[in-house]
Amino acid sequence: MLKIKNYINGELLEPLGKEYIDNYNPSIGKVYSFIPDSDERDVELATQAALSAFPTWSVTPKEERSRIMLKISELIEKNLERFAIAESTDNGKPVSLARMVDIPRAASNFHFYATAILHYASESHSMEDTAINYTLRTPVGVAGCISPWNLPLYLFTWKIAPAIASGNCVVAKPSEITPMTAYLLSELCIEAGLPKGVLNIVHGYGHKVGAAITAHPKIPLISFTGGTKTGAEIARVAAPMFKKLSLELGGKNPNIIFADCDFEKMIKTTLSSSFANQGQICLCGSRIFIERSIYEKFKTEFVSRVKKMKVGNPADAESKLGAVVSKSHMEKVLSYVDLAKQEGGIVLCGGVQVKLDGEFAEGYYIAPTVIEGLDYNCRTNQEEIFGPVVTITPFDTEEEVLMFANSTQYGLASILWTENLTRAHRMASNLHSGIVWINCWLLRDLRTPFGGVKGSGVGREGGFEALHFFTEPKNVCIKLK
Ligand code: NAD
Repeated sequence: MLKIKNYINGELLEPLGKEYIDNYNPSIGKVYSFIPDSDERDVELATQAALSAFPTWSVTPKEERSRIMLKISELIEKNLERFAIAESTDNGKPVSLARMVDIPRAASNFHFYATAILHYASESHSMEDTAINYTLRTPVGVAGCISPWNLPLYLFTWKIAPAIASGNCVVAKPSEITPMTAYLLSELCIEAGLPKGVLNIVHGYGHKVGAAITAHPKIPLISFTGGTKTGAEIARVAAPMFKKLSLELGGKNPNIIFADCDFEKMIKTTLSSSFANQGQICLCGSRIFIERSIYEKFKTEFVSRVKKMKVGNPADAESKLGAVVSKSHMEKVLSYVDLAKQEGGIVLCGGVQVKLDGEFAEGYYIAPTVIEGLDYNCRTNQEEIFGPVVTITPFDTEEEVLMFANSTQYGLASILWTENLTRAHRMASNLHSGIVWINCWLLRDLRTPFGGVKGSGVGREGGFEALHFFTEPKNVCIKLK
Protein backbone atom coordinates (compact mmCIF):
# COMPACT_ATOMS: atom_id res chain seq x y z
CA MET A 1 0.00 0.00 0.00
CA LEU A 2 1.17 3.49 -0.81
CA LYS A 3 3.00 5.39 1.89
CA ILE A 4 2.52 9.12 1.52
CA LYS A 5 5.65 11.16 2.11
CA ASN A 6 6.39 14.58 3.50
CA TYR A 7 7.74 17.17 1.06
CA ILE A 8 10.61 18.97 2.75
CA ASN A 9 13.42 20.95 1.15
CA GLY A 10 12.40 19.72 -2.29
CA GLU A 11 12.51 16.05 -1.33
CA LEU A 12 9.91 13.41 -0.54
CA LEU A 13 10.81 12.15 2.93
CA GLU A 14 9.60 9.63 5.45
CA PRO A 15 8.59 11.12 8.81
CA LEU A 16 11.54 11.15 11.21
CA GLY A 17 9.66 8.98 13.71
CA LYS A 18 8.84 6.42 10.97
CA GLU A 19 5.27 6.19 12.25
CA TYR A 20 2.22 6.16 9.96
CA ILE A 21 -1.53 6.73 10.27
CA ASP A 22 -4.14 4.64 8.41
CA ASN A 23 -5.77 6.49 5.53
CA TYR A 24 -9.34 5.39 4.78
CA ASN A 25 -11.26 5.35 1.55
CA PRO A 26 -14.66 6.41 2.92
CA SER A 27 -16.60 5.01 -0.04
CA ILE A 28 -15.62 1.46 0.97
CA GLY A 29 -14.69 2.02 4.62
CA LYS A 30 -11.23 0.50 4.20
CA VAL A 31 -7.63 1.59 4.68
CA TYR A 32 -5.98 2.20 1.34
CA SER A 33 -2.76 4.09 2.13
CA PHE A 34 -0.63 5.39 4.99
CA ILE A 35 -0.05 8.95 6.13
CA PRO A 36 3.14 10.12 7.87
CA ASP A 37 2.48 10.59 11.58
CA SER A 38 4.92 13.48 11.68
CA ASP A 39 5.83 15.45 14.77
CA GLU A 40 7.59 18.64 15.81
CA ARG A 41 10.92 17.34 14.50
CA ASP A 42 9.55 17.16 10.96
CA VAL A 43 8.04 20.63 11.39
CA GLU A 44 11.45 21.88 12.55
CA LEU A 45 13.13 20.38 9.47
CA ALA A 46 10.51 21.96 7.21
CA THR A 47 10.83 25.34 8.95
CA GLN A 48 14.62 25.30 8.58
CA ALA A 49 14.23 24.47 4.88
CA ALA A 50 11.77 27.34 4.46
CA LEU A 51 14.05 29.75 6.34
CA SER A 52 16.99 28.79 4.11
CA ALA A 53 14.95 29.26 0.94
CA PHE A 54 13.43 32.58 1.98
CA PRO A 55 16.34 35.00 1.26
CA THR A 56 16.46 33.88 -2.39
CA TRP A 57 12.75 33.30 -3.03
CA SER A 58 11.72 36.62 -1.47
CA VAL A 59 13.86 38.53 -3.99
CA THR A 60 13.19 36.26 -6.96
CA PRO A 61 11.56 38.52 -9.57
CA LYS A 62 7.80 38.21 -9.49
CA GLU A 63 7.82 37.27 -13.18
CA GLU A 64 9.89 34.20 -12.32
CA ARG A 65 7.69 33.27 -9.36
CA SER A 66 4.72 33.70 -11.65
CA ARG A 67 6.25 31.48 -14.34
CA ILE A 68 6.83 28.59 -11.94
CA MET A 69 3.33 28.90 -10.49
CA LEU A 70 1.78 28.90 -13.95
CA LYS A 71 3.70 25.70 -14.63
CA ILE A 72 2.25 24.12 -11.47
CA SER A 73 -1.23 25.22 -12.56
CA GLU A 74 -0.70 23.70 -15.99
CA LEU A 75 0.50 20.42 -14.49
CA ILE A 76 -2.59 20.19 -12.26
CA GLU A 77 -4.77 20.68 -15.34
CA LYS A 78 -2.80 18.04 -17.20
CA ASN A 79 -3.36 15.62 -14.32
CA LEU A 80 -7.03 16.55 -13.86
CA GLU A 81 -8.46 13.04 -14.12
CA ARG A 82 -5.85 11.41 -11.89
CA PHE A 83 -6.27 14.13 -9.26
CA ALA A 84 -10.09 14.01 -9.42
CA ILE A 85 -10.09 10.26 -8.81
CA ALA A 86 -7.54 10.64 -6.01
CA GLU A 87 -9.61 13.38 -4.34
CA SER A 88 -12.76 11.29 -4.56
CA THR A 89 -11.05 8.17 -3.20
CA ASP A 90 -9.62 10.11 -0.27
CA ASN A 91 -12.70 12.16 0.58
CA GLY A 92 -15.74 10.20 -0.64
CA LYS A 93 -17.04 13.00 -2.87
CA PRO A 94 -18.37 12.22 -6.36
CA VAL A 95 -15.57 12.09 -8.94
CA SER A 96 -17.74 14.36 -11.11
CA LEU A 97 -17.61 17.07 -8.43
CA ALA A 98 -13.85 16.77 -7.99
CA ARG A 99 -13.45 16.89 -11.78
CA MET A 100 -15.68 19.94 -12.19
CA VAL A 101 -14.92 21.91 -9.03
CA ASP A 102 -12.10 20.83 -6.73
CA ILE A 103 -9.26 20.20 -9.11
CA PRO A 104 -9.95 22.96 -11.69
CA ARG A 105 -10.19 25.39 -8.78
CA ALA A 106 -6.84 24.23 -7.40
CA ALA A 107 -5.31 24.95 -10.82
CA SER A 108 -7.08 28.35 -10.90
CA ASN A 109 -5.74 29.25 -7.46
CA PHE A 110 -2.16 28.98 -8.76
CA HIS A 111 -3.05 30.66 -12.04
CA PHE A 112 -4.92 33.49 -10.35
CA TYR A 113 -2.13 34.39 -7.90
CA ALA A 114 0.59 33.84 -10.50
CA THR A 115 -1.01 36.66 -12.48
CA ALA A 116 -2.32 38.72 -9.53
CA ILE A 117 1.22 39.50 -8.35
CA LEU A 118 1.96 41.00 -11.75
CA HIS A 119 -0.83 43.52 -11.19
CA TYR A 120 -0.39 44.16 -7.49
CA ALA A 121 0.72 47.69 -6.67
CA SER A 122 1.47 49.28 -3.34
CA GLU A 123 0.13 52.68 -2.36
CA SER A 124 1.55 56.14 -2.27
CA HIS A 125 0.17 59.10 -0.31
CA SER A 126 1.19 62.55 -1.35
CA MET A 127 1.15 65.39 1.24
CA GLU A 128 1.08 68.04 -1.47
CA ASP A 129 4.48 69.73 -1.55
CA THR A 130 5.44 68.73 2.00
CA ALA A 131 6.21 65.05 1.71
CA ILE A 132 5.44 61.86 -0.09
CA ASN A 133 4.67 58.51 1.54
CA TYR A 134 4.96 55.23 -0.21
CA THR A 135 4.18 51.77 1.09
CA LEU A 136 6.63 48.95 0.70
CA ARG A 137 5.07 45.50 0.81
CA THR A 138 7.50 42.77 1.75
CA PRO A 139 6.88 39.06 2.29
CA VAL A 140 6.49 38.10 5.92
CA GLY A 141 8.89 35.12 6.01
CA VAL A 142 7.72 31.58 6.70
CA ALA A 143 3.96 31.17 6.46
CA GLY A 144 2.14 28.35 8.25
CA CYS A 145 -0.84 27.09 6.21
CA ILE A 146 -3.27 24.61 7.76
CA SER A 147 -6.29 23.30 5.86
CA PRO A 148 -9.35 21.03 6.34
CA TRP A 149 -10.68 17.88 4.66
CA ASN A 150 -13.84 19.03 2.90
CA LEU A 151 -12.29 20.63 -0.21
CA PRO A 152 -8.79 19.26 0.25
CA LEU A 153 -6.66 20.51 -2.66
CA TYR A 154 -8.95 23.47 -3.38
CA LEU A 155 -8.49 25.01 0.08
CA PHE A 156 -4.88 23.91 0.53
CA THR A 157 -3.82 25.73 -2.65
CA TRP A 158 -6.04 28.74 -1.85
CA LYS A 159 -3.52 29.49 0.92
CA ILE A 160 -0.28 28.27 -0.58
CA ALA A 161 -0.68 30.12 -3.89
CA PRO A 162 -0.94 33.69 -2.50
CA ALA A 163 1.70 32.87 0.15
CA ILE A 164 4.41 31.83 -2.29
CA ALA A 165 3.31 34.32 -4.97
CA SER A 166 4.08 37.15 -2.57
CA GLY A 167 7.54 35.78 -1.81
CA ASN A 168 7.00 33.82 1.39
CA CYS A 169 8.16 30.28 1.99
CA VAL A 170 5.61 27.90 3.42
CA VAL A 171 5.24 25.11 5.94
CA ALA A 172 1.86 23.58 5.14
CA LYS A 173 -0.28 20.88 6.67
CA PRO A 174 -3.21 19.35 4.84
CA SER A 175 -5.88 17.53 6.82
CA GLU A 176 -4.76 14.10 8.02
CA ILE A 177 -8.16 12.84 6.87
CA THR A 178 -7.56 13.77 3.21
CA PRO A 179 -3.80 14.10 2.52
CA MET A 180 -3.54 12.44 -0.89
CA THR A 181 -3.83 15.31 -3.37
CA ALA A 182 -1.45 17.46 -1.30
CA TYR A 183 1.05 14.63 -1.69
CA LEU A 184 0.44 14.47 -5.44
CA LEU A 185 0.88 18.24 -5.57
CA SER A 186 4.32 17.92 -4.00
CA GLU A 187 5.35 15.68 -6.92
CA LEU A 188 4.11 18.33 -9.37
CA CYS A 189 6.01 21.08 -7.55
CA ILE A 190 9.23 19.10 -8.04
CA GLU A 191 8.37 18.60 -11.72
CA ALA A 192 7.60 22.31 -12.15
CA GLY A 193 11.00 23.28 -10.74
CA LEU A 194 9.79 25.05 -7.61
CA PRO A 195 13.04 25.81 -5.76
CA LYS A 196 13.62 23.55 -2.78
CA GLY A 197 12.31 24.77 0.56
CA VAL A 198 9.81 27.26 -0.91
CA LEU A 199 6.93 24.92 -0.15
CA ASN A 200 7.17 22.24 2.52
CA ILE A 201 4.30 19.88 3.26
CA VAL A 202 4.24 18.06 6.58
CA HIS A 203 1.55 15.43 7.02
CA GLY A 204 0.06 14.31 10.30
CA TYR A 205 -2.29 15.08 13.13
CA GLY A 206 -3.49 18.55 14.04
CA HIS A 207 -2.50 18.26 17.68
CA LYS A 208 1.06 17.33 16.67
CA VAL A 209 1.96 18.91 13.31
CA GLY A 210 -0.65 21.70 13.33
CA ALA A 211 0.15 22.62 16.92
CA ALA A 212 3.91 22.62 16.21
CA ILE A 213 3.42 24.96 13.23
CA THR A 214 1.18 27.26 15.28
CA ALA A 215 3.64 27.46 18.16
CA HIS A 216 6.84 27.70 16.11
CA PRO A 217 8.65 30.96 16.95
CA LYS A 218 10.05 31.29 13.41
CA ILE A 219 6.63 31.09 11.75
CA PRO A 220 5.16 34.58 12.18
CA LEU A 221 1.98 34.04 10.18
CA ILE A 222 -0.75 31.40 10.30
CA SER A 223 -3.42 30.96 7.67
CA PHE A 224 -5.96 28.45 8.94
CA THR A 225 -9.19 27.01 7.58
CA GLY A 226 -11.15 24.59 9.70
CA GLY A 227 -13.48 24.35 12.66
CA THR A 228 -14.27 27.25 14.98
CA LYS A 229 -13.01 25.38 18.06
CA THR A 230 -9.64 24.67 16.41
CA GLY A 231 -9.48 28.30 15.27
CA ALA A 232 -9.93 29.42 18.87
CA GLU A 233 -7.13 27.10 20.02
CA ILE A 234 -4.80 28.44 17.29
CA ALA A 235 -5.64 32.03 18.27
CA ARG A 236 -5.00 31.20 21.94
CA VAL A 237 -1.47 30.00 21.12
CA ALA A 238 -0.59 32.40 18.31
CA ALA A 239 -2.02 35.70 19.59
CA PRO A 240 0.42 36.15 22.52
CA MET A 241 3.24 35.52 20.02
CA PHE A 242 1.81 38.41 17.92
CA LYS A 243 1.48 36.25 14.82
CA LYS A 244 -0.52 37.44 11.86
CA LEU A 245 -3.66 35.33 11.76
CA SER A 246 -6.21 34.52 9.12
CA LEU A 247 -8.94 32.22 10.42
CA GLU A 248 -11.60 30.82 8.08
CA LEU A 249 -13.96 28.88 10.32
CA GLY A 250 -17.33 27.18 10.50
CA GLY A 251 -20.73 28.25 9.25
CA LYS A 252 -24.44 27.69 9.77
CA ASN A 253 -25.65 29.59 6.79
CA PRO A 254 -29.22 30.75 6.19
CA ASN A 255 -30.90 30.22 2.84
CA ILE A 256 -33.75 32.75 2.78
CA ILE A 257 -36.49 32.23 0.22
CA PHE A 258 -39.09 34.92 -0.49
CA ALA A 259 -42.37 34.13 -2.26
CA ASP A 260 -41.45 36.37 -5.20
CA CYS A 261 -38.37 34.35 -6.17
CA ASP A 262 -37.88 32.49 -9.44
CA PHE A 263 -39.12 29.22 -7.98
CA GLU A 264 -37.52 26.79 -10.43
CA LYS A 265 -34.08 28.41 -10.32
CA MET A 266 -34.30 28.59 -6.55
CA ILE A 267 -35.22 24.91 -6.11
CA LYS A 268 -32.44 23.73 -8.41
CA THR A 269 -29.79 25.80 -6.67
CA THR A 270 -31.17 24.97 -3.23
CA LEU A 271 -30.63 21.27 -3.92
CA SER A 272 -26.94 22.06 -4.52
CA SER A 273 -26.54 24.56 -1.71
CA SER A 274 -27.99 21.97 0.66
CA PHE A 275 -26.30 18.77 -0.46
CA ALA A 276 -23.27 19.46 -2.69
CA ASN A 277 -20.25 17.58 -1.37
CA GLN A 278 -22.66 15.74 0.99
CA GLY A 279 -23.40 19.09 2.66
CA GLN A 280 -19.76 19.32 3.74
CA ILE A 281 -19.04 22.81 2.41
CA CYS A 282 -18.65 25.61 4.91
CA LEU A 283 -20.87 27.69 2.58
CA CYS A 284 -23.81 25.26 2.35
CA GLY A 285 -27.16 26.74 3.34
CA SER A 286 -28.22 24.36 6.09
CA ARG A 287 -31.04 26.50 7.55
CA ILE A 288 -33.68 27.12 4.91
CA PHE A 289 -36.24 29.82 5.73
CA ILE A 290 -39.26 30.02 3.43
CA GLU A 291 -41.87 32.77 3.30
CA ARG A 292 -45.03 31.20 4.69
CA SER A 293 -47.20 31.70 1.59
CA ILE A 294 -45.00 29.28 -0.41
CA TYR A 295 -43.91 27.03 2.45
CA GLU A 296 -46.13 24.05 1.57
CA LYS A 297 -45.36 24.31 -2.14
CA PHE A 298 -41.65 24.47 -1.41
CA LYS A 299 -41.78 21.58 1.04
CA THR A 300 -43.61 19.25 -1.36
CA GLU A 301 -41.43 20.05 -4.35
CA PHE A 302 -38.12 20.12 -2.49
CA VAL A 303 -38.66 16.87 -0.57
CA SER A 304 -39.83 15.08 -3.70
CA ARG A 305 -36.65 16.11 -5.56
CA VAL A 306 -34.36 15.35 -2.60
CA LYS A 307 -35.78 11.82 -2.46
CA LYS A 308 -34.70 11.34 -6.07
CA MET A 309 -31.06 12.33 -5.43
CA LYS A 310 -28.93 9.25 -5.86
CA VAL A 311 -26.54 8.35 -3.06
CA GLY A 312 -23.97 5.94 -4.42
CA ASN A 313 -20.56 4.94 -5.68
CA PRO A 314 -18.68 8.24 -6.06
CA ALA A 315 -17.28 7.10 -9.42
CA ASP A 316 -20.78 6.62 -10.83
CA ALA A 317 -21.78 9.66 -12.91
CA GLU A 318 -25.37 9.28 -11.68
CA SER A 319 -24.42 9.69 -8.00
CA LYS A 320 -25.38 13.10 -6.64
CA LEU A 321 -24.00 12.28 -3.21
CA GLY A 322 -21.02 10.10 -2.39
CA ALA A 323 -19.78 9.08 1.05
CA VAL A 324 -19.21 11.44 3.97
CA VAL A 325 -15.59 11.72 4.94
CA SER A 326 -15.24 9.26 7.83
CA LYS A 327 -17.07 6.85 10.09
CA SER A 328 -16.84 9.20 13.06
CA HIS A 329 -18.17 12.07 10.97
CA MET A 330 -21.07 9.90 9.77
CA GLU A 331 -21.88 9.06 13.38
CA LYS A 332 -21.70 12.71 14.37
CA VAL A 333 -24.07 13.77 11.58
CA LEU A 334 -26.55 10.99 12.42
CA SER A 335 -26.41 11.94 16.11
CA TYR A 336 -27.66 15.39 15.07
CA VAL A 337 -30.67 13.75 13.41
CA ASP A 338 -31.43 12.06 16.74
CA LEU A 339 -31.02 15.39 18.50
CA ALA A 340 -33.37 17.05 16.00
CA LYS A 341 -36.02 14.42 16.78
CA GLN A 342 -35.59 14.99 20.51
CA GLU A 343 -36.01 18.71 19.88
CA GLY A 344 -39.35 18.07 18.18
CA GLY A 345 -38.20 17.94 14.57
CA ILE A 346 -39.98 15.85 11.95
CA VAL A 347 -37.72 14.07 9.46
CA LEU A 348 -39.37 14.51 6.06
CA CYS A 349 -36.80 12.41 4.22
CA GLY A 350 -33.43 10.77 4.85
CA GLY A 351 -32.08 10.79 8.38
CA VAL A 352 -30.46 7.38 8.02
CA GLN A 353 -27.29 5.70 6.85
CA VAL A 354 -27.57 4.30 3.32
CA LYS A 355 -26.27 0.75 2.98
CA LEU A 356 -24.92 0.09 -0.50
CA ASP A 357 -24.14 -3.32 -1.98
CA GLY A 358 -20.94 -5.16 -2.73
CA GLU A 359 -17.62 -3.44 -2.19
CA PHE A 360 -19.40 -0.29 -0.99
CA ALA A 361 -21.29 -2.06 1.81
CA GLU A 362 -18.97 -0.68 4.50
CA GLY A 363 -18.93 2.88 3.11
CA TYR A 364 -20.13 5.94 5.01
CA TYR A 365 -23.25 7.06 3.16
CA ILE A 366 -26.07 9.21 4.52
CA ALA A 367 -29.38 9.88 2.77
CA PRO A 368 -29.99 13.60 2.15
CA THR A 369 -32.10 14.73 5.06
CA VAL A 370 -34.78 17.40 5.41
CA ILE A 371 -36.20 18.24 8.82
CA GLU A 372 -39.08 20.57 9.71
CA GLY A 373 -40.83 21.74 12.85
CA LEU A 374 -37.83 23.06 14.76
CA ASP A 375 -37.44 26.31 16.63
CA TYR A 376 -34.85 28.65 15.06
CA ASN A 377 -33.06 28.69 18.38
CA CYS A 378 -32.68 24.96 19.08
CA ARG A 379 -29.27 23.27 18.94
CA THR A 380 -29.98 21.63 15.57
CA ASN A 381 -30.49 25.10 14.12
CA GLN A 382 -27.58 26.71 15.95
CA GLU A 383 -24.73 24.20 15.70
CA GLU A 384 -22.77 23.31 12.58
CA ILE A 385 -23.65 19.75 11.47
CA PHE A 386 -21.56 19.79 8.28
CA GLY A 387 -23.39 16.96 6.55
CA PRO A 388 -26.35 16.34 4.24
CA VAL A 389 -28.91 17.69 6.71
CA VAL A 390 -31.06 20.80 6.30
CA THR A 391 -33.94 22.22 8.29
CA ILE A 392 -36.87 24.07 6.78
CA THR A 393 -38.74 26.78 8.67
CA PRO A 394 -41.49 29.20 7.58
CA PHE A 395 -41.28 32.94 8.24
CA ASP A 396 -43.75 35.82 8.00
CA THR A 397 -41.78 39.06 7.78
CA GLU A 398 -38.40 40.37 6.75
CA GLU A 399 -37.67 41.41 10.35
CA GLU A 400 -38.45 37.94 11.61
CA VAL A 401 -36.26 36.12 9.08
CA LEU A 402 -33.38 38.53 9.69
CA MET A 403 -33.61 37.71 13.37
CA PHE A 404 -33.61 33.96 12.58
CA ALA A 405 -30.73 34.32 10.12
CA ASN A 406 -28.53 36.39 12.42
CA SER A 407 -29.21 34.34 15.55
CA THR A 408 -26.24 31.92 15.40
CA GLN A 409 -22.67 32.37 16.59
CA TYR A 410 -21.63 32.07 12.92
CA GLY A 411 -21.60 34.58 10.07
CA LEU A 412 -19.99 33.11 6.99
CA ALA A 413 -22.43 33.23 4.07
CA SER A 414 -26.10 33.96 3.45
CA ILE A 415 -28.23 33.02 0.47
CA LEU A 416 -31.20 35.13 -0.54
CA TRP A 417 -33.93 34.45 -3.11
CA THR A 418 -36.11 37.36 -4.20
CA GLU A 419 -36.90 39.29 -7.37
CA ASN A 420 -37.38 42.49 -5.34
CA LEU A 421 -34.19 44.47 -5.83
CA THR A 422 -34.83 46.96 -3.05
CA ARG A 423 -35.45 44.19 -0.57
CA ALA A 424 -32.37 42.33 -1.79
CA HIS A 425 -30.14 45.34 -1.05
CA ARG A 426 -31.82 46.00 2.29
CA MET A 427 -31.46 42.39 3.41
CA ALA A 428 -27.87 42.15 2.14
CA SER A 429 -26.81 45.09 4.25
CA ASN A 430 -28.54 43.73 7.38
CA LEU A 431 -27.35 40.13 7.24
CA HIS A 432 -24.46 39.36 9.58
CA SER A 433 -22.20 37.45 7.22
CA GLY A 434 -19.06 37.99 5.17
CA ILE A 435 -20.72 36.84 1.93
CA VAL A 436 -24.27 37.27 0.60
CA TRP A 437 -25.38 35.40 -2.51
CA ILE A 438 -28.53 36.78 -4.13
CA ASN A 439 -30.35 34.42 -6.51
CA CYS A 440 -27.27 32.20 -6.75
CA TRP A 441 -24.87 30.16 -4.65
CA LEU A 442 -21.15 29.50 -4.77
CA LEU A 443 -20.69 31.86 -7.67
CA ARG A 444 -17.08 32.85 -7.08
CA ASP A 445 -14.95 35.65 -8.45
CA LEU A 446 -11.52 35.03 -6.96
CA ARG A 447 -10.89 38.79 -6.66
CA THR A 448 -13.62 39.25 -4.03
CA PRO A 449 -13.04 39.24 -0.27
CA PHE A 450 -13.80 35.81 1.15
CA GLY A 451 -14.43 35.08 4.81
CA GLY A 452 -16.79 35.39 7.72
CA VAL A 453 -17.73 37.40 10.78
CA LYS A 454 -18.34 36.37 14.41
CA GLY A 455 -17.47 32.69 15.00
CA SER A 456 -16.87 32.18 11.27
CA GLY A 457 -13.51 33.80 11.37
CA VAL A 458 -11.09 36.66 11.32
CA GLY A 459 -9.65 38.21 8.17
CA ARG A 460 -10.39 37.72 4.51
CA GLU A 461 -8.90 35.61 1.77
CA GLY A 462 -9.19 36.21 -1.96
CA GLY A 463 -7.89 38.79 -4.42
CA PHE A 464 -5.57 41.45 -3.08
CA GLU A 465 -6.87 40.77 0.47
CA ALA A 466 -4.69 37.65 0.55
CA LEU A 467 -1.69 39.47 -0.92
CA HIS A 468 -2.13 42.12 1.80
CA PHE A 469 -2.24 39.39 4.42
CA PHE A 470 0.86 37.62 3.16
CA THR A 471 2.91 40.83 3.01
CA GLU A 472 3.94 43.34 5.63
CA PRO A 473 3.32 47.00 4.77
CA LYS A 474 6.00 49.52 5.61
CA ASN A 475 5.32 53.21 5.13
CA VAL A 476 8.24 55.34 3.97
CA CYS A 477 7.80 59.09 4.40
CA ILE A 478 10.12 61.45 2.51
CA LYS A 479 10.06 65.13 3.31
CA LEU A 480 10.32 67.12 0.13
CA LYS A 481 11.71 70.40 1.39
P1 NAD B 1 -10.55 20.93 11.97
O1 NAD B 1 -10.54 22.23 12.69
O2 NAD B 1 -10.77 19.70 12.77
O3 NAD B 1 -9.17 20.69 11.21
C1 NAD B 1 -8.66 21.61 10.28
C2 NAD B 1 -7.16 21.48 10.23
O4 NAD B 1 -6.62 21.89 11.48
C3 NAD B 1 -6.68 20.05 10.00
O5 NAD B 1 -5.55 20.07 9.17
C4 NAD B 1 -6.31 19.60 11.40
O6 NAD B 1 -5.35 18.56 11.45
C5 NAD B 1 -5.76 20.89 11.98
N1 NAD B 1 -5.74 20.96 13.45
C6 NAD B 1 -6.51 20.29 14.33
N2 NAD B 1 -6.18 20.63 15.59
C7 NAD B 1 -5.19 21.54 15.51
C8 NAD B 1 -4.44 22.27 16.46
N3 NAD B 1 -4.63 22.13 17.78
N4 NAD B 1 -3.53 23.15 16.03
C9 NAD B 1 -3.32 23.34 14.70
N5 NAD B 1 -3.99 22.66 13.75
C10 NAD B 1 -4.92 21.77 14.15
O7 NAD B 1 -11.60 21.08 10.81
P2 NAD B 1 -12.06 19.96 9.78
O8 NAD B 1 -12.96 19.02 10.51
O9 NAD B 1 -10.90 19.46 9.03
O10 NAD B 1 -12.93 20.84 8.75
C11 NAD B 1 -14.26 21.13 8.91
C12 NAD B 1 -14.44 22.54 9.42
O11 NAD B 1 -13.81 23.47 8.57
C13 NAD B 1 -15.90 22.96 9.45
O12 NAD B 1 -16.15 23.65 10.65
C14 NAD B 1 -16.02 23.89 8.27
O13 NAD B 1 -17.06 24.83 8.34
C15 NAD B 1 -14.69 24.55 8.29
N6 NAD B 1 -14.39 25.14 6.99
C16 NAD B 1 -14.38 26.49 6.86
C17 NAD B 1 -14.13 27.08 5.62
C18 NAD B 1 -14.09 28.57 5.44
O14 NAD B 1 -13.60 29.01 4.41
N7 NAD B 1 -14.56 29.35 6.38
C19 NAD B 1 -13.89 26.26 4.51
C20 NAD B 1 -13.92 24.87 4.69
C21 NAD B 1 -14.16 24.32 5.93
